[in-house]
Amino acid sequence: ATAASLALTLSACGQSGEGGSEEDKGGSDGATIGIAMPTKSSERWIADGANVEKELKAKGFKTKLVFGEDDPDQQVSQIENMITQGVDALIVAAIDNKSLGNVLQQAKDADIPVVSYDRLILGTENVDYYASFDNEKVGELQGGYIVEKLGLKDGKKGPFNIELFAGSNDDNNTRYFFQGAMNALKPYMDKGELVVRSKQTDLNQVTTLRWDGGTAQKRMDDLLTSSYRSARVDAVLSPYDGISIGILSALKSDGYGSGGKAMPVVTGQDAEVASLKSIISGQQTQTVFKDLRELAKVAANMVDAVLGDKKPEVNDSKSYDNGAKVVPAYLLQPVSVDKSNYKEVLVDGGYYTEDQLK
Ligand code: BGC
Repeated sequence: ATAASLALTLSACGQSGEGGSEEDKGGSDGATIGIAMPTKSSERWIADGANVEKELKAKGFKTKLVFGEDDPDQQVSQIENMITQGVDALIVAAIDNKSLGNVLQQAKDADIPVVSYDRLILGTENVDYYASFDNEKVGELQGGYIVEKLGLKDGKKGPFNIELFAGSNDDNNTRYFFQGAMNALKPYMDKGELVVRSKQTDLNQVTTLRWDGGTAQKRMDDLLTSSYRSARVDAVLSPYDGISIGILSALKSDGYGSGGKAMPVVTGQDAEVASLKSIISGQQTQTVFKDLRELAKVAANMVDAVLGDKKPEVNDSKSYDNGAKVVPAYLLQPVSVDKSNYKEVLVDGGYYTEDQLK
């Protein structure tokens, strides 16, 4: 995302870009919450950091906020540092869901509760609660949108050509998103109404390390060369807006979107500014909006309850088994957004102003 679009998102959330990892003053009860976010390379995580700090400060906590530059080792040492500095609780959005076992044992030994934020941390008992969205539903909204937009739901017969992209294989959300999308797409693939010409249909063939748009662009270039010299792509399942932008670049270089060669249906996730602009101008087709203001509230409430020796509110105690335990979760609902409803959902909903999307 560009600096300008990041600034826009931050202002949309009523935050400034200041802060970083300095300790903030304030907070009447003296407790400090460590917040570890994965990266600043996508605007959503910057908004998450700002929103979580805002909610915690409103409750009188102090905060330490760090971003891990998508480097799992760096995130581990950042969390180690916060433990050494004596934070009272941790909110962590993992980069590599399996790399945090040792450091969370250190947290446990220091009696520091841990909330897994958005992405479930795997393989350790030392995760107390999980704040996230219904991740399988995210995928169902993406896959379901494709089925509907191509007319398959209304009985239109294919075959339509589709290619599949998934997120980072070290992010636990990836398999939930993919599974959700397959719930919607697979019945049509089985009937031959949706065809994956590349034959790359297994999750491990279609992941995108660290959700990188450039990596996705390269793969889309390769797919167009290997499988679409004499056929057109009708739809691309994309799990995240940054990946969608990469896919769209490859498609544009191949002549899609001009000269009568229509863009395929391309999905996304996060309702990032660049993708909304792309949707409004008729390139990307859809995205999935997840209200990060609400997620921040859920996470802050969880920490507040745990530190106050109360039970946080959860609404799902069965879906998220991290391999060591079933982590009690509070899951929010994602919303599908396209050109037809972005105003209602995002502008009327107060998430962005109309001007930010121009
Ligand atoms: C989040 C998505 C995001 C992706 C890439 C996932 O874990 O749930 O909202 O698009 O990471 O940052």
